[in-house]
Amino acid sequence: MVFPCNEIKKTAWDVLRNFDHALILREDDPLLPAVLGVYEAQGIRDGAPQNTMKGEAFRTDLAAAYPDCRLVITKETMTVEGMIKIVYDLLKDKLNIAKITFTSGANAACQEYEVSGTLNRCPLCGIALNEEGVCPKCGYRA
Ligand SMILES: [Zn+2]
Repeated sequence: MVFPCNEIKKTAWDVLRNFDHALILREDDPLLPAVLGVYEAQGIRDGAPQNTMKGEAFRTDLAAAYPDCRLVITKETMTVEGMIKIVYDLLKDKLNIAKITFTSGANAACQEYEVSGTLNRCPLCGIALNEEGVCPKCGYRA
């Protein structure tokens, strides 16, 4: 069965929307304490009521997302190559990734991956079953 494209987008977007309209800073950026100070002073350090398009918080070796602050802290300086590494790390267990391309202005990078293994999928929807063997979309149980 073919994995539905819209489900790939949803799976990726759940993670990637942490970067949408977010401030992305390297962990040692001198602006970071100042920015957090302003958030604190404005009373939005733990989120604002209008901020509803939040992704799920994550923390990996390469980056950490603080969706309430619309903030992503990275280990390395943000480049298209770095973004590929971060995104691959976040999605490699959820999708079989063959290729990632990132562009930013005139910069572009592309990385191909050896696709191995397979995910157990719902025979009704085609989307990946969760750890309990249940389809998150239709409730099918393996
Ligand atoms: Zn299903």
